[in-house]
Amino acid sequence: MINCIYRATEGEGVFVGRSQVFVRYQGCAIGCVNCDSKDTWDFLSESTHSTEDILNQVYDEGFGGKIKYVSITGGDPLHPKLLPGVMELVLKLKERGYGINVEAAGSRVVSELFDQVDFVSFDLKTPSTEVKTPIENIKKMLEFYAHKSQIKAVIASREDFDFALNVKKDMDKMFGPTQTSWVLTPCYNTGEMFPMERFVEVINWNEEAGGLFRVIGQQHKWIHGPDKKQV
Ligand code: SF4
Repeated sequence: MINCIYRATEGEGVFVGRSQVFVRYQGCAIGCVNCDSKDTWDFLSESTHSTEDILNQVYDEGFGGKIKYVSITGGDPLHPKLLPGVMELVLKLKERGYGINVEAAGSRVVSELFDQVDFVSFDLKTPSTEVKTPIENIKKMLEFYAHKSQIKAVIASREDFDFALNVKKDMDKMFGPTQTSWVLTPCYNTGEMFPMERFVEVINWNEEAGGLFRVIGQQHKWIHGPDKKQV
């Protein structure tokens, strides 16, 4: 179940600016209220994409295989309905020498997949999303995947920032310094003008807290506007 496959420059997180082919899976049952990909929520009963089809499209979108990094996103590619297809794709991409990032919504730590990919971008859902990330999942990420992950939180308010800060401080007490990057993404909603004030606030709050996070916005939305898809 694929929503779309497209070439774009990574717009957020620690790999901002990197050319990638995105494979966006269709289907998500998590329900973040500020989701900017609500068109990916429905699970379609029929898949029209075989793994071979996906590999061919990744190759074509990447200018005949020149772009060698793939980001698997959604939707929720870790949902049990999607996972078997994702696993098959990941193993075939690896055989072909691609580097692979997976976007994880924070609701599941899937070792069979995370062990295979190069990087996991793992969400810490903040109060404004009205979804909760089990803290056990953050602990597992720090314990097993700190060397190849970022923890990413969307910040829409001071409440979101304080929540992320408390989690970060608790994890620092438990694990000490780790290689994981903790990233704050100032919320930039669809249909909204560029929220400069919110960005400046998040930057200031982070500085006041000692700069425990990297504040990284969604570059693709600055460039193309918040509503444009597949960029
Ligand atoms: S997990 Fe991602 S796709 Fe699913 S609702 Fe949340 S933001 Fe949207």
